[in-house]
Amino acid sequence: MKLSRRLRVDPDRKLSLRHVEPRSHPGIRTKAEAEAQLQRSLTRLDELQFDLYAEGQRSLLIVLQAMDAGGKDGTIRKLAMGLNPQGCLVTSFKVPSDEEAAHDFLWRVHHVAPERGDVGIFNRSHYEDVLVVRVHDLVPKAVWSRRFDEINAFEHQLADSGTRILKFYLHISRDEQRQRLQDRLDDPRKRWKFKPSDLKEREHWDAYMDAYEDALRKCSTPWAPWFVIPADRNWYRNSAVAQIVVEALEDMNPKPRKADFDPRSITIV
Ligand code: ADP
Repeated sequence: MKLSRRLRVDPDRKLSLRHVEPRSHPGIRTKAEAEAQLQRSLTRLDELQFDLYAEGQRSLLIVLQAMDAGGKDGTIRKLAMGLNPQGCLVTSFKVPSDEEAAHDFLWRVHHVAPERGDVGIFNRSHYEDVLVVRVHDLVPKAVWSRRFDEINAFEHQLADSGTRILKFYLHISRDEQRQRLQDRLDDPRKRWKFKPSDLKEREHWDAYMDAYEDALRKCSTPWAPWFVIPADRNWYRNSAVAQIVVEALEDMNPKPRKADFDPRSITIV
């Protein structure tokens, strides 16, 4: 079975993140197998992105969400090894600026959606507006709860205009987060990544899991599926994400656009 089928969130079934083991590695047996698979995926990704760009008709949007220290940055670093930066835009979504906050929540997202031929990667996304915003009561429930439909409609619009959307939730355990935050604290090279505020967020772990379960279930659609990636093991996470991206691009099967001239009629002297 394709990994994308195996890890995809089925909107008809109740999703329980507590029953997804973050150390599990479905479909990939060993670290060595994962690393070999990752190399193959990256080589294939390079070819497929070339064709996507050459076709110039459709685009690919990869959305990454996770708890702090969940591995979004590491995943992007690995994926990027198979991507030509000329056809790729990575956008990180932070606390909205004053200008962003003065608009509807999708305003800052729409204009960085990938253009035809390109790959867009979102490091966090519009889902923060049903996650952190919900956990911290930043807007009333009546407002965030209607956003699921608004997000589905927005993503449908992108899909209709040629954007393939893949959304990954990197699922780490609370224990693994503690270990990673401790490593950041202990390692002078990583210490800049540690934010005391991460500890405050950690206290809301259960509320975040509830919010993620809702968002993943309500917004895993045929046109923009969510995938839950067990992510305590980096080797599994990287290999699984790359494989699902390749599977999607292979399914898109991009073809370089035809020349609007007859090559036989041209002589290069
Ligand atoms: P990261 O953790 O992604 O490496 P930061 O440490 O700068 O980067 O965290 C970005 C912060 O911005 C996160 O705490 C996230 O919850 C917050 N954020 C992102 N989007 C929103 C939003 N729409 N409303 C409130 N906070 C947001």
